[in-house]
Amino acid sequence: MDSRVYVLECTDYTEASEKIPQLLEKMGGMKSFAAESESIVLKANLLRPAGPEKAVTTHPSILAALGKELAAAGAHPLVADSPGSGYKYDQKMLQKIYRTCGLDAVSQETGLRLNMATTAEEVSCPEGKLIKRFEVITPVLEADGVINVCKMKTHVFMSMTGAVKNSFGVIPGLKKPGYHAKLRDNTRFADMLLDLSNYVAPRLSIMDAVLAMEGNGPGSGEPRRVGLILASTNPLALDVAAGEIMGIDRDRNTLLLQAAKRGMTPTRLEEIELIGLEKSELRIPDYRLPATIYGNEGLGDLPWWQKMLVPLFKNGMSVKPLIDRKACVACGSCYESCPEGAINMLDGKYAAINADKCIRCYCCHEMCQYDAVILKKSLLYRLVN
Ligand code: SF4
Ligand code: SF4
Repeated sequence: MDSRVYVLECTDYTEASEKIPQLLEKMGGMKSFAAESESIVLKANLLRPAGPEKAVTTHPSILAALGKELAAAGAHPLVADSPGSGYKYDQKMLQKIYRTCGLDAVSQETGLRLNMATTAEEVSCPEGKLIKRFEVITPVLEADGVINVCKMKTHVFMSMTGAVKNSFGVIPGLKKPGYHAKLRDNTRFADMLLDLSNYVAPRLSIMDAVLAMEGNGPGSGEPRRVGLILASTNPLALDVAAGEIMGIDRDRNTLLLQAAKRGMTPTRLEEIELIGLEKSELRIPDYRLPATIYGNEGLGDLPWWQKMLVPLFKNGMSVKPLIDRKACVACGSCYESCPEGAINMLDGKYAAINADKCIRCYCCHEMCQYDAVILKKSLLYRLVN
């Protein structure tokens, strides 16, 4: 597998229209990734309605610049994604996301097409190690090729989200909680993501790390200016570089650990070839990691008898989601996203979590636009870590 990762400084999104062509030029130009008259999906990260300044979604200027390059190569670009697990994949929601994320304005200005189809099909994934069938949104299935345009963010369940995790967006919104219900342990969730990323097989992955996210991402962390755009034909290589930037140890990066167990490469910094920056310049020492980081090593390596004991102590050892009733506006997104039915809407006024049913997937935290889901570290968790 290609282990090259290209990095270019881009301190502000106003520079994206110059920087994207420069980055592509180093990789042989857009014509290396899209032929004339091909339809190419720009698979953005459009997790939920959020302004570009919140760093939740791929910035519209990056997508606009890629759309322009594709059009210049004679291809037909289309931006597509399905929102996160608390949101319906319907036209009303897509319109809201496009408007809020700044893509509507970009589309009107540049003619960049935005997907409005809301159908999906079940597809066979015979190469999948864990999952053999996925339901995938139609624009991705109908395209000649996919360019993965991800966002660099921390992630409370998976430690980080980057190129591989971005593939989860091809699953329709309300189908996503089912994967959390089936794959509670993040090692199994990582295996599913690797299967899905291999299935989507993007020709190119571009990472928006101009304004990235730190803290309790991917929906409610804080924006962090990193000032970089990264690119690779190998999503895993891009995630190795992003993990290094954020300072997420490989031991806490379940996705890379599972990939290594499958013999996939690269999964370590020494295995990537970095072009445009020294490896020693990547790390940002004070990058804030998710509150859950010490619970994110998964259960994969524990002996069977320890795995059986873990559920007894799991709740006491983990970070608990709680509802801030003052901030909650009873929008219901957390309720829709919860794979275990652990959330009730009390009197239609606010949400409440049943801790006994909660499996700590943090979908509710990811989906709440109002910062009303807070993460509380237990005393045991704080003592141990
Ligand atoms: S906590 Fe309240 S505001 Fe947040 S997603 Fe749930 S219902 Fe909506
Ligand atoms: S309440 Fe628990 S199980 Fe439900 S979405 Fe939140 S973290 Fe996941």
